[in-house]
Amino acid sequence: MDDPILVVNCGSSSLKIALFTCQDERLINILAENLSTPTARIRISGESGSTPVSGGGSHYEALNEIIGLLRQRGLIADAPAAIGHRVVHGGETFKEPSLIDAQVLDAIRSCSALAPLHNPVNLVGIEAAQQLFPGTPQVAVFDTAFHQTLPEHAYWYGVPQRYYRDWGVRRYGFHGTSHQFMAEEAARLLGKPVSETSLISAHLGNGCSITAIRDGKSTDTSMGLTPLEGLVMGTRSGDVDPGLFDFLSKKGLAIEEINRVLNRESGLLGLSGETNDMRTLAQLAEEGHAGARLAIEVFCFRLARYIGAMTASLSSLDALVFTGGIGENSALVRHKTLAHLSLLGLTLDEERNRGNGRLSECRIEGNASRYPVLVIPTNEELVIARAAVTHGLQNPT
Ligand code: AMP
Repeated sequence: MDDPILVVNCGSSSLKIALFTCQDERLINILAENLSTPTARIRISGESGSTPVSGGGSHYEALNEIIGLLRQRGLIADAPAAIGHRVVHGGETFKEPSLIDAQVLDAIRSCSALAPLHNPVNLVGIEAAQQLFPGTPQVAVFDTAFHQTLPEHAYWYGVPQRYYRDWGVRRYGFHGTSHQFMAEEAARLLGKPVSETSLISAHLGNGCSITAIRDGKSTDTSMGLTPLEGLVMGTRSGDVDPGLFDFLSKKGLAIEEINRVLNRESGLLGLSGETNDMRTLAQLAEEGHAGARLAIEVFCFRLARYIGAMTASLSSLDALVFTGGIGENSALVRHKTLAHLSLLGLTLDEERNRGNGRLSECRIEGNASRYPVLVIPTNEELVIARAAVTHGLQNPT
């Protein structure tokens, strides 16, 4: 067997590892949680039980133990062929994945001001992998890179130009690897070259974003300078009136508190007063829970409104695409959202919709729908693994 490709997604207290063959086959998923605490543990996807991480439970120790597990199972011999790392913010520097060297590490560090919660921990993952595998090519894949094709009119905010010039204040967009995967998969399913495929791609998970893809390239997207803008999400508010900050500060809330509430206590959780979990909300709504109903209605309306907004960036549409935990699994959300969009001529086949696209090669639109509607399971790790092959093995510098 050829050496596999290791994919590393490093969060502040977690480490997600996936292993792929060079032929795109996923071999295993492993999750390390509660890192840097005494309860740090490693779980293998699809298996029961977990093992503790020894020492202080650091990212390095977790990765080291995961590699030991992979070796025990014969999945890695000596080292992986290449390693792909998810990095959240690539600023304007990174328009595509990059083979990691000292210069690239510096550039990722300098993007940390734009993503202080994410880039520093992404660097921790890269450094741990470099210590373990000093000779293996490592590639950084950026959530923002796919959106570097946004035209100026889509990425400028209506604020003084100096904010952009001095501090880089602009729309960057996130979930780029998922939207890129949607573009490639939808093009394949529709039998068109990706460079001629135009889509509206809705990634609806705990974080939610929507992207207009024109001829295979991102041309507008709902997340902005940070991943807080746009759609209503699990715990994030999405768009609010910027005047809310002044209003709440006059009520005595500090800026850090407002930021925390908008990121962690808003969205589906804040609206329902119960949970950010769409499965539970759907159940509660059926039982008549008013907050759950409200949360779902607001979520779907905001989404429909953004689907309409994305048409301003397209001159043709090959499909509307849903992905992410909610997008892939919630027939209710897709149904309620499209019910707002009759003016666009979008309709669903309810049976195919209930089957989440699995009955019908991902297609769920009704016969009379003006445009195809697709449900495509996202696979961000595969995009990262492919990038590690392309940028780490095929073009070594
Ligand atoms: P993700 O961040 O992509 O894992 O998505 C998480 C979201 O997907 C949560 O709100 C889950 O409740 C939701 N989700 C997962 N499975 C289902 C399902 N079968 N029906 C509705 N929502 C689901």
